[in-house]
Amino acid sequence: MSAVQTVARSTSPWLPYPVTIEDIHQEVPGIATYQLGFVDSAVASRFQFRPGQFNMIYLPGVGESAISISSDPSTTAILHTIRIAGNLTRALARRRVGDQIALRGPYGSSWPMDACKGRDLVIACGGVGLAPLRPAIYHVINHRSDYGRVFLLYGARTPGDLLYAGEYDAWREADIEIAVTVDIGDQAWSGNMGVVPVLFYSMRLNAPKTMILTCGPEIMIRFVIFEALARKIPPDRIFLSVERNMNCAIGHCGHCQLGPAFICKDGPIFSYRQMEPYMHLEDY
Ligand SMILES: Cc1cc2nc3c(=O)[nH]c(=O)nc-3n(C[C@H](O)[C@H](O)[C@H](O)COP(=O)(O)OP(=O)(O)OC[C@H]3O[C@@H](n4cnc5c(N)ncnc54)[C@H](O)[C@@H]3O)c2cc1C
Repeated sequence: MSAVQTVARSTSPWLPYPVTIEDIHQEVPGIATYQLGFVDSAVASRFQFRPGQFNMIYLPGVGESAISISSDPSTTAILHTIRIAGNLTRALARRRVGDQIALRGPYGSSWPMDACKGRDLVIACGGVGLAPLRPAIYHVINHRSDYGRVFLLYGARTPGDLLYAGEYDAWREADIEIAVTVDIGDQAWSGNMGVVPVLFYSMRLNAPKTMILTCGPEIMIRFVIFEALARKIPPDRIFLSVERNMNCAIGHCGHCQLGPAFICKDGPIFSYRQMEPYMHLEDY
């Protein structure tokens, strides 16, 4: 556990810290990015996170949900990109700039940015699965010479559901090779149609040098892993973010247990080597 986490939880691991909603940016229908600022400036100055970590977002009287941090880890901004799914996220969608909510965190494991140094990277994600990978993209951009070729393979249901579309040009300028696909195009769409794993077909990977980072619907993750394994990328160089219904986020309640792992504290990011026994890819 980092010093930051220890300090942030020194009072009680359950204690959420009040935050103000400083900005709400509607990304696409049903998904918005919330910029949150700690009310207590001392807490704000201690808060740091690694790409892929999450916070527990708390709405008094409603409950808590695990939400990944989607901002640039080199800045102090705390951004969360949130899809309306159920009770908490629906209630959050009714909050306005200036309202107070709370959070505790950051929690969980992170994308292996150090282990990726000197390697090519394939970042494969779908839907809101780009949110936990955006900090990894910012990290790559901030340390571009540490990495080889970097591919972003991203898919959404329709062109209007593509997250952060306004940033793609800047990412391309930072030498990220982007391939986007949608399930259903519209009249203006002349790009790829189909699922994310199919984007592997048009890439020439240097497999011995490549790491895979993937997040999105479980079915997409499974087929991304298939494509990676088919290209002889070993299981310990494939990393995935595993989502499970989480309650405590600190390994006490057992809600998110998968095999011997508590997804909240051992994950959510694992290598496929770690998750292989629990994913049963041979069923597909
Ligand atoms: C580590 C982690 C990071 C996450 N990051 C994000 C993020 O960045 N943005 C985002 O929009 N969402 C994220 N989620 C998903 C988010 O936590 C769930 O959508 C959460 O349930 C929303 O709370 P709710 O009260 O609105 O919905 P709920 O009322 O809890 O649930 C809505 C529906 O989703 C089901 N469900 C709940 N949690 C999950 C889950 N984890 N996986 C699959 N089904 C679930 C419930 O059974 C129910 O059917 C993340 C989840 C995890 C575990």
